[in-house]
Amino acid sequence: MISEINKYKGQLGARLERDPKGIYLFWKARVAFYAVLKSMGVSAGDEVILPAYTCVVVPNAILYLGAEPIYVDIDPDTYNMDISRLREAITDRTKVIVCQNTYGLAPELDEIISIANELGLYTVEDSAHGMGGRYKGRPNGLVADATFFSTQWNKAFSTGIGGFAVANSKQLQRKLAVIENEASRPSFWDVTNLRVLYFVRKYLINNLTYYWLIKVYRFLSSHNLIVGSSNGKEISSIQQPKKYLQSFSALQAKKGIENLAKLDLALLERREAAEKYATFFRERSKGFVDPGRFKEHTFLKYPILVKDRDLFMSLAESAQVQIGDWFKSPLHPVEKNLQLWGFKPEKFPVATRVAKHVVNLSTELNQVSRTLKFLEANIHLVESSMADINDVTIEILEKAAEPELFVVDENH
Ligand SMILES: *Cc1c(COP(=O)(O)O)cnc(C)c1O
Repeated sequence: MISEINKYKGQLGARLERDPKGIYLFWKARVAFYAVLKSMGVSAGDEVILPAYTCVVVPNAILYLGAEPIYVDIDPDTYNMDISRLREAITDRTKVIVCQNTYGLAPELDEIISIANELGLYTVEDSAHGMGGRYKGRPNGLVADATFFSTQWNKAFSTGIGGFAVANSKQLQRKLAVIENEASRPSFWDVTNLRVLYFVRKYLINNLTYYWLIKVYRFLSSHNLIVGSSNGKEISSIQQPKKYLQSFSALQAKKGIENLAKLDLALLERREAAEKYATFFRERSKGFVDPGRFKEHTFLKYPILVKDRDLFMSLAESAQVQIGDWFKSPLHPVEKNLQLWGFKPEKFPVATRVAKHVVNLSTELNQVSRTLKFLEANIHLVESSMADINDVTIEILEKAAEPELFVVDENH
């Protein structure tokens, strides 16, 4: 009998146009990323370049290996790394460049890879948002030296929590196979917990309970009372949690097989939702993601900028409209002490400004009409573009970038 794990790998392989043996499954995508960096030999003294607009678990994986995350500001039109700023971040200690897919839009891989090849650096695609998407006509995950994907709750398709990695060279593949095999197995407690969460998710989440359940989930997971997306340590420190390097369970594989079968329909529906939003915003002269320009965008989320996010989110909560907050911080979801992760907000004005004003609309088709109704009523809160944001704190941040106002970092 073929195991759930092998069946799942087979289906992923078929979608990714890869040999299923070259798919390495892990407990979470961050762990898959950590494994990839390890397979590349990243260690103390190395630098890893990444966009200044990501999940904190990405720099965490770099720091756990003793290496240093080096951030590059983003392009406000794509929310991906601004590659015109890439070269200035590279030093002779750089080992890897992380190319992130944000909200479903692939990064400019060819340009990044050509710089990396010229300088002998590795590239890793963070395709946590990119499963099912394409780059220049082929499935995401084929061009960088290695790619990792997330199957966490809200990603392209879900195994609750989970992730996997692929790599191009035989050498990296061999090392990843060893790391996957040596990773500790999820405990009975972890798997049982996940089973309960599948149940809660399936039967209890609706427009009435959405915000309440998110708060409960985040509370429990930050206090390590359930297997959450992130435990407390990961968002308050740069210490590696115990049992971090953990493998994938058969229960997750089973969920993955079930949900992978729905991915194609979900992708079509997300595109249709995105087109509706684009039309709506175009007609009202607001900022929108142009579906023509981003032919290969999968619209996992539809990002917009709003004037006062706290107000906007509280109105959405009262109206029971499901709005997301990725990335409410340049190192989501951490809002304080970013210097612990080597992040100085004043050096990344675009990412910092975007993170203060972004919200993401649900691209689940059944959420679109109530979302549009809500947007219509609150259209005065929606920005037309980055340039329109009138924000006093940004001026303060820009001033702080001048050397004479440089503040000594007391935590080091
Ligand atoms: C969610 C996410 C990750 C991490 O995924 P997990 O499966 O939760 O570890 C990494 N990068 C980005 C951009 C993400 O959004």
